[in-house]
Amino acid sequence: MRPFTYTSARNKDQALQAFTKTTHYLAGGTNLVDLMKEDVERPDQLIDVNKLDYKKISSNDKGGLTLGAMLSNSETANNPDIRTKYPLLSMAMLSAATAQIRNMASNGGNLLQRTRCPYFFETSMPCNKREPGSGCGALKGMNSQHAIFGYSDSCIATNPSDMNVALAAIGATVEVQKTDGSSRMIEFSDFHRLPGDQPEKDNTLEQGELITAIHLAEPSFSDHYYYLKIRERSSYAFALISVAAGLQVKSGTITKVGLAMGGVAHKPWKLTKAEEFLTGKKPTASNFEEAAEMEMKDAKPFEANKYKVEMGKNAIVRALTQAYEREV
Ligand code: SF4
Repeated sequence: MRPFTYTSARNKDQALQAFTKTTHYLAGGTNLVDLMKEDVERPDQLIDVNKLDYKKISSNDKGGLTLGAMLSNSETANNPDIRTKYPLLSMAMLSAATAQIRNMASNGGNLLQRTRCPYFFETSMPCNKREPGSGCGALKGMNSQHAIFGYSDSCIATNPSDMNVALAAIGATVEVQKTDGSSRMIEFSDFHRLPGDQPEKDNTLEQGELITAIHLAEPSFSDHYYYLKIRERSSYAFALISVAAGLQVKSGTITKVGLAMGGVAHKPWKLTKAEEFLTGKKPTASNFEEAAEMEMKDAKPFEANKYKVEMGKNAIVRALTQAYEREV
């Protein structure tokens, strides 16, 4: 690991003012420190933000709850209000990593998780995300776990977070502090980006911006929800495919749908066509199958990840079915 300076910020202003071009904020460090050990991330300075007062869950003016960015994933997922009002989020978060990692990992940090593409971690291999302009090792290499939607010739990596998939389905806004002291809100759908010709940028944060809160939309899916995560082993593994499904059903008709996929794109992949199609329909197997079909027909897989198309279709149907049939 390369040398770096460490500063523990006592307040927000101190954190923002100390930020330089080669700084990283440090919260749980569960991803960042690994990447520093592998020489993938090379910050000159870490600003520890754990002492900042962003560790609460509170009500917001949208009728929902706001998550402090420095609150741990465990505290969030196990919070009684989150379990009752946003069980889809809780279920997704508890499927991630291990209990030990969830105890350390922060909510803000979860949004910033970097891809687990093996070429990104291997510094002797080309990777445009790690070293812009060096090429993409995965494009013609081992890409069985890579994207089938929204990729570019520069990068075909996927976003690894489970929390992100649930937030895309539920709807959220990310609050960030800027270095000039002002703040701004970013719609969750605009927070992560597709790779285009700048795969080194995972999200739309500007230099020095600090995530302070995640504002959740009004709870809609506390009765009918399911997070389906398909992976190579049953714990401590990233999703090959995941689906976050939330349904609101009144008098036998679907009145609202939240649906997103993980493991298929550079950002959590919101299934807007399926959401629109299902709204106003009956929660039947044939409607779920038609919704899955219309989303997956646009997939552009590689030879090694063709399996994700059929798996994705089945996963959407299964997640919607489990969500609908769930006994509350
Ligand atoms: Fe790097 Fe992206 Fe290519 Fe993986 S897919 S090697 S992260 S550029």
